[in-house]
Amino acid sequence: MLSPLDLGWTTLKNRILMGSMHTNLEEIPGGFERAAVYFAERAKGQVGLIVTGGISPNPEGCVAAMAAKLNTEEEVKHHKLITSAVHAEGGKICMQILHTGRYGYHPKIVAPSAIQAPINFFKPKELSPEEIEKTIDDYVQCALLAQKAGYDGVEIMGSEGYLINQFIAKRTNQRQDEWGGNYENRIKFPIQIVNETRKACGENFIIIYRLSMLDLVEGGSTWSEVVQLAKEIEKAGATLINTGIGWHEARIPTIATVVPRKAFAWVTKKLKSEVNIPLIAVNRINMPDVAEEVLSEGCADMVSMARPFLADAELVLKTMEGRIDEINTCIACNQACLDHTFQMKISSCLVNPRACHETELNYIPTNNPKNIAVIGGGPAGMAYAHVAAMRGHKVDLYESSRQLGGQFNMAKIIPGKEEYAETIRYYQRMLSKYDVNILLNTKAEKQFLINKYDEIILANGVTPRKLDIEGIDHPKVLSYVDVLLHKAEVGRSVAIIGAGGIGFDVAEYLVHHGNQEEEIKTFLATWGVDHEYKHGGALKDAKIQVPAREVYLLKRSTGKHGATLGKTTGWIHKASLVANNVQMISDVTYQKIDDDGLHIVVKGEARILPIDHVIICAGQEPSRALYQELLDEGLQPTLIGGADEAVELDAKRAIHQACHLASVV
Ligand code: NAP
Ligand code: SF4
Repeated sequence: MLSPLDLGWTTLKNRILMGSMHTNLEEIPGGFERAAVYFAERAKGQVGLIVTGGISPNPEGCVAAMAAKLNTEEEVKHHKLITSAVHAEGGKICMQILHTGRYGYHPKIVAPSAIQAPINFFKPKELSPEEIEKTIDDYVQCALLAQKAGYDGVEIMGSEGYLINQFIAKRTNQRQDEWGGNYENRIKFPIQIVNETRKACGENFIIIYRLSMLDLVEGGSTWSEVVQLAKEIEKAGATLINTGIGWHEARIPTIATVVPRKAFAWVTKKLKSEVNIPLIAVNRINMPDVAEEVLSEGCADMVSMARPFLADAELVLKTMEGRIDEINTCIACNQACLDHTFQMKISSCLVNPRACHETELNYIPTNNPKNIAVIGGGPAGMAYAHVAAMRGHKVDLYESSRQLGGQFNMAKIIPGKEEYAETIRYYQRMLSKYDVNILLNTKAEKQFLINKYDEIILANGVTPRKLDIEGIDHPKVLSYVDVLLHKAEVGRSVAIIGAGGIGFDVAEYLVHHGNQEEEIKTFLATWGVDHEYKHGGALKDAKIQVPAREVYLLKRSTGKHGATLGKTTGWIHKASLVANNVQMISDVTYQKIDDDGLHIVVKGEARILPIDHVIICAGQEPSRALYQELLDEGLQPTLIGGADEAVELDAKRAIHQACHLASVV
């Protein structure tokens, strides 16, 4: 990693923006008080400028019925809680004005034309010309109320396929009046909003316009249209232009972990010479060295990070103090942030369960230091040891293998999941910082534990489920651990038994060739993003390599594959496997494995899959042998993570449980 001196971090505070992230806090009783603490922690962590989650300028524009809006004096006082808390920490904050148009989840949605979004059940009503004028006025009134509430500015959300974007694109704007037809008419809506907001709020009010530089949908803007709009937005009085990448309905991943770091900074760079106001680059910029690369390569004047500030409120401060290795890195999993947002739950962060829960979960120094043994150095064990040691307990961490990380050591080698290595790096640094005694290659036996510790925490994880199928001991049969951790040789044709998260991951691993050179270009080509921007929306035919193996992904249950995967990322995993010709078969009965292959029955019909290997990814059982031995000795160990509950085990639950328990031990 580069050192802070190399990076010139003295100016960093002013060059990193905390981007907008809808947390659902503004929608719950007492939520503004919580949001104030959440934002203030980030301001204290030296973020120069923060943008709030989207707030609607009127009821029709809300994300959902009763979701946050700002169109009355009454609502101003709630926002004052946020602005005063941020200002008290020396920060600046802008409120994002977001009208969802046809993306809102409620029956009163409106749009330029009555065209239903492919990702929504509700059909929008077409706005009349009078209603369009009224909506523009609502934006302006909303900005004035934001100013009254103490915000330093607003961000006008003009991208991601929301209302403004719906006006701009032919795909969603089929009006024949002065707000539709040619491009000049279609961009009148955002220009008028920025123009009138500037006039109403004065010269010193920050106006960020989030401009969709890459729509990634058919019927999206062409590059010359993007440039034309940017110039007009500058003329209309915007202070900064932020980058928007991809509509929500686009079938190209834009922020998930499969997207390489800074994969879209090139599009901001393309606009750089066209306008004079500063530009902000976004998406998959998650660490200071990545931010520095974006800035030093001249892609933008500032970078925006949203999820990285959920993962670590002190990202900027740690960087300024040369503690980059202490940053808890956002691994772009979406599991506790966007997946929660879209399920109308309070957002948080898989690697930092305090995010958006700052008033409930705190790691207060203990008055009663204890001797604690943590058995198992996976995510749950590392998280527990970290929090307990940080609070002043003396912690011994036993790990039977030669490395910390547990299941994350397998996740990090799946193509597109390399970020998981950052979490292991973070915990290693924290455990060292707080003097946790790490005992690698040490299988904890009960005799080490008896009479030595005040608390014994069993985080010794899971054991892959053993299946009772004829031929299960055949040399063709491997477990996912053999493949991912022990690097077993795998033939050209493979059947995977079990289509949960790990079955999907193993399939992804097996279809790849392992040549990840020119990562960003490969990613863009694979997903059909046109780097040369020849057509509107910047789409082109996807270029898929011939898969490295022929893979069958099998499950016993009926229904579609991938239903148990993450809400905002499951489709990406599935699309990738479909593109790589993975055969997904449901309703399978496994009969036997022999030299001929895997014998199965599918919907009553017998088949033999003539494969080289069968890989078992059929879930796990908790590892409980030591637990029972300790109970037999009259001890009361605490189970956490997969050792506690292996069914639908996931790291989010494991780290959350570990941090909560360690905060009160
Ligand atoms: P899982 O999600 O519980 O899936 C286990 C699979 O094995 C299921 O598809 C199940 O499907 C099958 N199965 C269960 N018992 C079986 C048996 N006796 N015989 C044959 N098949 C059996 O477990 P996992 O894949 O090990 O993943 C563990 C957890 O890790 C997941 O809950 C997930 O949260 C997390 N994870 C997620 C991701 C991701 O989202 N990309 C990636 C990795 C891990 P049938 O019963 O239909 O056969
Ligand atoms: Fe990043 Fe995952 Fe945390 Fe979201 S939940 S902020 S994607 S690490």
